[in-house]
Amino acid sequence: MKGATAISVLLLFPLVVQVGCAKGDRERKLDMLENNKEFARFIEQGKTPYARWLKRQLANPDPASEGWDLWQLTFSANHLEKQEVPPVQARANLRLVARKLEQIERLCAPTVWVHSGYRSPTVNNGVGGVRHSRHMEGLAADLSFPGSEASAVKKCICKRARAGICEMYVHKDRHYIHMGLCRYLEKPGPLKWCGEK
Ligand SMILES: [Zn+2]
Repeated sequence: MKGATAISVLLLFPLVVQVGCAKGDRERKLDMLENNKEFARFIEQGKTPYARWLKRQLANPDPASEGWDLWQLTFSANHLEKQEVPPVQARANLRLVARKLEQIERLCAPTVWVHSGYRSPTVNNGVGGVRHSRHMEGLAADLSFPGSEASAVKKCICKRARAGICEMYVHKDRHYIHMGLCRYLEKPGPLKWCGEK
């Protein structure tokens, strides 16, 4: 992630999806909508296919796992207008991410916030993401853990929830973790962030 991205993430901060200990709690999700007027307005106006998709998802959520709905993993920075509905393959991948998040919540951190999940290519460009970012495939998420040290959570993930992860690092100045799952048939190589060589 580059400097511009850090700024975008900073601007996005209130837009973080909060579930974690309140897993599956609809009231908490609605609370987020009420407290984020920009987001609520974007959905209400329904100007883009993504906005209309979000509206349908909110009315009838598609559960990605026990604790996460699909739409919660589609936020990316303050680029709502440029976000797109995740394609079918990305949606399938987001379900894998959701299951991994559940595992992390169970084993390593009671609360997980998602700062950035699926990104359309335009959004990825806008936030300064790398060219072949796994975010564009729905295979990556940037996470923070209120009440837990990011480095401690990372250690725990390395030890107890390592399977299927091909990318992971703690961002230097933002206390969050970028996690990228392996692509189909991709063999997980050593993760230097887990002390593997
Ligand atoms: Zn990332």
